[in-house]
Amino acid sequence: MNGTEWGMVAERVVALRERLTRAGGEQTRIIAVTKTFPASAIDAVVAAGIDDIGENYAQEACSKLPEIGTDPTVHFIGRLQRNKVRHLALFVDVWQSVDRPELVAEIAKRSPGSSIMVQVDISGEPSKGGCDPATTEQLVIAATDAGLQVIGLMGVALLAEAEQARDGFSLLRRQVDALGLQECSMGMSSDLEVAVSEGATMVRIGRDIFGARVG
Ligand SMILES: *Cc1c(COP(=O)(O)O)cnc(C)c1O
Repeated sequence: MNGTEWGMVAERVVALRERLTRAGGEQTRIIAVTKTFPASAIDAVVAAGIDDIGENYAQEACSKLPEIGTDPTVHFIGRLQRNKVRHLALFVDVWQSVDRPELVAEIAKRSPGSSIMVQVDISGEPSKGGCDPATTEQLVIAATDAGLQVIGLMGVALLAEAEQARDGFSLLRRQVDALGLQECSMGMSSDLEVAVSEGATMVRIGRDIFGARVG
């Protein structure tokens, strides 16, 4: 892959910003989800004015991110294994998928004081990750006590009918407010309008910027 293959990215970012604006989300931050796409795709989206990227897979991120020629804020948004934190700590700026105490402890050890978000299960689907909503506050307190900067909450809806995500998004936003946090990361290519209308401050967008993922 070379940089010119990502020529459509700039246009898609413009179209995405228009889509967000129509949904009432002109202030919403776009996290460009770059899983499965090469370093050149990251550089292309940063050149198109995006400051934040999201990676899902530890091994892929650790091999790809040293190759990029730009300096975006890197969010880790995938299922996180404790033994991957040490390697990822070199690259990750915001840990969005913190959903259990052992991750809090490991991030506090390997990346002291870093910014995290607590991932809350808003889909009822264990494979999506996230803590039980009844334990969100406990995890936020544990992370704060461990010296981490808890900037907000993150949730992943089921990839189904966008409207079906609304109750989960609404719950996440209520927890953000109840805990006095700032950031609410929810919404992907298929359901960003619903997420924005429920108060997302960050949307995580892959396919709408880069096209379909292979594999
Ligand atoms: C892949 C992924 C996204 C982006 O999904 P698209 O449908 O490509 O926009 C967002 N959030 C998480 C957690 C993901 O794994």
